[in-house]
Amino acid sequence: MFIRRSLVLLIYALLPLFPGRRAADAAPGGKKEKPLPAEPVESGITFDWIHVDGPYIAMTFDDGPSAKLTPKLLDLLAQHHIKATFFLIGQNAAENAELAAREAREGHEVANHSWSHPNLAKMSDEGVRAQLRKTDDAIKSAIGKSPTLMRPPYGSISPRQKKWINQEFGYKVVLWDVDPLDWRRPGPSAVCNRIVKNTRAGSIILAHDIHPGTIEAMPCVLKELEDKGFKFVTVSELIAMQTPLPPKPSPAPKSSPSAKSSAAPRSTPAGSTAPSPTPQT
Ligand SMILES: [Zn+2]
Repeated sequence: MFIRRSLVLLIYALLPLFPGRRAADAAPGGKKEKPLPAEPVESGITFDWIHVDGPYIAMTFDDGPSAKLTPKLLDLLAQHHIKATFFLIGQNAAENAELAAREAREGHEVANHSWSHPNLAKMSDEGVRAQLRKTDDAIKSAIGKSPTLMRPPYGSISPRQKKWINQEFGYKVVLWDVDPLDWRRPGPSAVCNRIVKNTRAGSIILAHDIHPGTIEAMPCVLKELEDKGFKFVTVSELIAMQTPLPPKPSPAPKSSPSAKSSAAPRSTPAGSTAPSPTPQT
């Protein structure tokens, strides 16, 4: 019995060593993996979903470029004429500068995901500045211009940090609203199902081009989302399409005779999206 318990303890001790955790955005050091959807999103600086009039979405890929996997993904995106957004780890961008250049050349957006994927919320301003500056420099030298977006590893960043980073670097801070948890390597069909089920117009979809299963899932993801009528744009293009949210319907409508006719001039409730190709269930 003692042996069995020791064995269990040993397994728990070793769990964090298994691959797939290190570069995941959603789970720093094994903490709760939910990002920050509950946090109020600072208008104009932070984006996790965009209200748009039309079936537009943004696919995003973090933590690359990967010499092994990113070229396959780029081939597939080219076949579909789809533009995506790549949040690069600076040291990978420096190591695979030609791949970063290819991403930009083929019309994808290239953005900053820190130099070595630390938890920025726990770092000094100087440390954060160095992480972002080095990555900005690596991207600039690879693609010829500085990025305009950043995504904090694990979605972890304080409101104060967002503000000064935006002021100093001009970056918008991009989170996500669709997370297939692909870093846990649940298998390609789970990745595909999760993305397809949760994507709505204006979605920013999180994925990682450093996991083979994610790349394997992409033919399914792209085809199914296309079949549903979604159109893929880069994150900056999606942000540029932003339209104001319709006013929230009153929670306690008065029972006046005119209430019915004036309540919903546009058939879109607040928070939902206008002409979504297929209604979300
Ligand atoms: Zn990441």
